[in-house]
Amino acid sequence: MSVCVRFAAALLAIASFAAATAAAQDPAAPRAEVVTAAQALQDKVVAWRRDIHAHPELSNRETRTGELVAEHLRSLGLEPKTGIAHTGVTAVLKGGRPGPRIALRADMDALPVTEQTGLPFASKVTDTYRGQTTGVMHACGHDAHTAILMGVAEALVGMREELPGEILFVFQPAEEGAPEGEEGGAALMLKEGVFEEFTPDAVFGLHVFSTLNADQVGVRAGPMMAASDRFGLKVIGRQTHGSRPWGGVDPIVASAQIISQAQTIVSRQMDISKQPVVVTFGAINGGIRYNIIPDEVELVGTIRTFDEDMRKDVFARLNHIAEHVAAANGATVEAQIPADAGNPVTFNNEALTERMRPSLAAAAGAGKLVELPLIMGAEDFSLYAQQVPGLFFFVGATPVGEDPAAAPSNHSPQFDVDESALDLGFRAMLQVALDYLHDGES
Ligand SMILES: [Zn+2]
Ligand SMILES: [Zn+2]
Repeated sequence: MSVCVRFAAALLAIASFAAATAAAQDPAAPRAEVVTAAQALQDKVVAWRRDIHAHPELSNRETRTGELVAEHLRSLGLEPKTGIAHTGVTAVLKGGRPGPRIALRADMDALPVTEQTGLPFASKVTDTYRGQTTGVMHACGHDAHTAILMGVAEALVGMREELPGEILFVFQPAEEGAPEGEEGGAALMLKEGVFEEFTPDAVFGLHVFSTLNADQVGVRAGPMMAASDRFGLKVIGRQTHGSRPWGGVDPIVASAQIISQAQTIVSRQMDISKQPVVVTFGAINGGIRYNIIPDEVELVGTIRTFDEDMRKDVFARLNHIAEHVAAANGATVEAQIPADAGNPVTFNNEALTERMRPSLAAAAGAGKLVELPLIMGAEDFSLYAQQVPGLFFFVGATPVGEDPAAAPSNHSPQFDVDESALDLGFRAMLQVALDYLHDGES
């Protein structure tokens, strides 16, 4: 055997090994009916998203959006229920064949953000939020989620006869949190019985995300997004003249010490090799004038955790620090830790995630399904996923070729969703739904 032939043989061996490896990694082709539906409905999904984007509504105020959704579902021959958890809409599609039951969820609310995208369909809407006039913007991409699910509903209705099982469409208000003094979001949808009337075998949801490119889908099994808890502290001293601090009790100094001491919860006390923890003070309010020591100071903030025991432990430690540091200053504290029910960890059911990974990969294409790191943000999808096995995945929002790390993030006034993400989100959600239903056909 000549050197040359041996070299050629070695090359061939390398080439066939590379081909085999690529074949092993190549995702399955997407379902033909998904490709056809995406082509047929893409223009509609884009138009809905632009319309919803131009008419954003704050949490629990999604009246127009809810009506748009309900009207569309009616036009498909479904019988939507409206006014659930204020403005929510649900509808059930029964397939022509027996099979499993799934729920597909989209959120509909916008944020008190003044849009700076310069898009032709940019929001010019203003509203009142916590007593202040503000711009309103779909700065988290829920316009995209709503439009995608409207399209997926239309596609599935078109396949009704051959469809095994039943699908509950959930269009949810107030994912970003209900206004103060109101209930809302997934918690209220569940309280009003959305999963009692129709108990799904699995629930699916998606989110557009600036940290991925618009040709990428991101997922993670197990804990994926943090539990989020709001806290409030009122540090109570005794008001006195700024020149005579000994004549009162200074809640500003006590607050400063509480804030400093609270930093040791993460840095010195929690086992952050197990799961990450964040404690953030977001606002301090106290005092009115340079030479008056005020009666009290209010502190508010957020706690992010990934483990239920650690979550409760942080509550206890922050309470302990607030109480004892205040006492050491002669002050008292009224603590609300947590200040409300909060959001639990968004947990992707492991078996369900592994089962649906090939569906996500088929939609995204080779190399475009990425494993996400833990996300410190929170989602009230977590509440549905506490009831039944859930899978929540991300679709990139940043145009292909741009650096996602440099792109304006969700909640930024410059946040934008590349319209190709609408197509990918639609195909991913439809592929997941169809694969689950057909795999579980009874
Ligand atoms: Zn958001
Ligand atoms: Zn969001």
